[in-house]
Amino acid sequence: MDKREAEETLKQLRSELDDYGYHYYVLDKPKVPDAEYDRLMKQLLEVEEAFPELKTDDSPSVRIGGPVASAFKKVTHAVPMMSLSNAFSADDLRQFDRRVRQAVGDDISYVCELKFDGLAVSLTYENGLLTRGATRGDGTIGEEITGNLRTVSSIPLRLREPVSIEVRGEAYMPKRSFESLNKAKEEAGEEKFANPRNAAAGSLRQLDPKIAAKRNLAMFAYSIGEVDGKALTTHYEGLQFLNEIGFKVSQEAQECASIEDVIAFTETWTEKRHDLPYEIDGIVIKVNNLAQHETLGFTAKSPRWATAYKFPAEEVLTVLREIELNV
Ligand code: NAD
Repeated sequence: MDKREAEETLKQLRSELDDYGYHYYVLDKPKVPDAEYDRLMKQLLEVEEAFPELKTDDSPSVRIGGPVASAFKKVTHAVPMMSLSNAFSADDLRQFDRRVRQAVGDDISYVCELKFDGLAVSLTYENGLLTRGATRGDGTIGEEITGNLRTVSSIPLRLREPVSIEVRGEAYMPKRSFESLNKAKEEAGEEKFANPRNAAAGSLRQLDPKIAAKRNLAMFAYSIGEVDGKALTTHYEGLQFLNEIGFKVSQEAQECASIEDVIAFTETWTEKRHDLPYEIDGIVIKVNNLAQHETLGFTAKSPRWATAYKFPAEEVLTVLREIELNV
């Protein structure tokens, strides 16, 4: 591909991805499956890597989330809420591991967590009291949705310890709630939600909290933005602390001593993902040691100490199985 072709390709990809992003993040109505969006994004990243002079600040490859809806009060996140880099294969994970080792050496362990398919939210507690809830928004500025988040029963209104802390988690709609919501919508002749993720996002971005209250949402806490007066050395300790102070934390999170253990975890959950009562779209892998997070730092869009392994799209999975079984 020469530079002129690259320019054309980038223009096309950026315009498609911007349009899909708008439908997904703003309207909560995706136009294409996630796997298609991911495929185009991968292509965009590859072309931008081959032609770095064609990178732009407004490319979907550097943007997090979508624009913030004006109907809500805007909040600025004290610590930005980043996106995650993606891995699509065991080899991508091994490459991630090599990059981590190059930066921090071989004394490394990981935490594997399920990647819940919902909406990232930030919860601020002052002396144990919930004072603010917000969406991730564009990573720097989010939408204030405290009233809606207060209706989610797994979100504590007061913590079991009077700590001042900013907690991050994924608000989601369990599969059963999603099915009954869509059934009710169908009976009422209303448009159905495409999937539980969009239903959760659509419910939390309503101006009237009574609607969110009826939607049976839940939240898994998965990280700490900042905390006063609590020294933590590992991410795993952070998860345990979140659980102690009253949050619902996934019991499936696992410490892994090597990248091969991480890969085994991703394989197990690729098989078992449909057994869960909520949707997941991958596995998040995080370096466990928090001092190593500092050393690794961030790119413009995501932390270098974490990555998201995305499950193969179901159609691709079927083809792979057929090849494996030689049918
Ligand atoms: P991402 O979804 O790949 O990863 C970041 C997010 O993962 C976090 O913000 C958080 O919400 C979530 N997460 C879930 N479990 C987590 C855990 N245990 N620990 C940490 N984070 C966890 O990145 P993104 O920027 O939110 O969105 C990009 C993705 O959204 C794409 O890969 C695509 O699949 C989807 N998307 C789809 C369309 C479409 O048209 N279908 C459009 C835009 C985006």
